[in-house]
Amino acid sequence: MTDKAFPSWPDIAPDLIHVAAGRAPADTVIRQGKWVNVHTREVLDNHDIAIKSGRIAYVGPDASYCTGPDTQVIEAQGRYMIPGLCDAHMHIESGMLTPAEFARAVIPHGTTSMFTDPHEIANVLGLEGVRLMHDEALLQPVNIFTQMPSCAPSAPGLETTGFEITAEDVAEAMHWPGIVGLGEMMNFPGVANADPKMLAEIAATQRAGKTVGGHYASPDLGRDFAAYVAGGPADDHEGTCEADAIARMRQGMRAMVRLGSAWYDVEAQITAITEKGLDPRNFILCTDDCHSGTLVHDGHMNRVVRHAIACGCDPLIALQMATINTATHFGLERDIGSITPGRRADVILTSDLTDLPIELVVARG
Ligand SMILES: [Zn+2]
Repeated sequence: MTDKAFPSWPDIAPDLIHVAAGRAPADTVIRQGKWVNVHTREVLDNHDIAIKSGRIAYVGPDASYCTGPDTQVIEAQGRYMIPGLCDAHMHIESGMLTPAEFARAVIPHGTTSMFTDPHEIANVLGLEGVRLMHDEALLQPVNIFTQMPSCAPSAPGLETTGFEITAEDVAEAMHWPGIVGLGEMMNFPGVANADPKMLAEIAATQRAGKTVGGHYASPDLGRDFAAYVAGGPADDHEGTCEADAIARMRQGMRAMVRLGSAWYDVEAQITAITEKGLDPRNFILCTDDCHSGTLVHDGHMNRVVRHAIACGCDPLIALQMATINTATHFGLERDIGSITPGRRADVILTSDLTDLPIELVVARG
């Protein structure tokens, strides 16, 4: 995926190399923090981060050699340096906000990447509305990736929507710069019955090398579930109990687990990790729907991570569920989700890994 609003790693690789080699100064250096490494699940004391052109050039014990007279130096003062948080599935419209105002509301909470499915506007304005949300998303100072809506209307024949999304719309949108995959495939009976339109949307997404979002809102883990999984959705956020999370992960899907304004699905499912001991890298946190009141009063992904920790999850594992796990799922592990060279410089400073106060947010450097 190329986001024209922001340089890619290969675009600026020479600059990153020169900073890391000590031949050129960094734009910004964050000094003397505890490096939370979500690849190895370690916390490493006394580390520095050197940033150039919005991406990370170097992380190590001493970046003073990357510091020039014009380098901005941020003193971490021993605080934890964690990657910016990712919301793996959500709808901006649920906040009653535009993409710009949603970003403004959540950046102070540490959210620097969002995977948004604008299916509400798709109901009103069709493909043109999706494009409006997509284009505004690309203008923001944080990473807002768009999931192409799959099911507008969500219940054909029962809703009088203004527009309909077609399989041709999905195929076209896969070429847009900010499209990261297909939004939640809510028509699970359609997939289970091999409905040609639903399968065409999934095929267009898979052939573009992108991720098919799932939405299997049924407690039935029998043949309908098996048929749905066989159709291609790669994640699902409709699970409500531990067995749901386990069934999805065993079948090679990612369990996406929600804490939204009205969704409280983390406590019941995180026991798959905390008690059953399953591999946590296939467990991803998201909000799905947050009203603006929740954003103002309770937070965003910081609220979800705190809640996962309060449910007994190791803080480093909970952070992986909102950073690297999400990035990996969408094929973006080399772009976001960790504090390592080449990645977008999305860094939070916090003095406590359990309460997770968001004390400073650096987005794209
Ligand atoms: Zn959703």
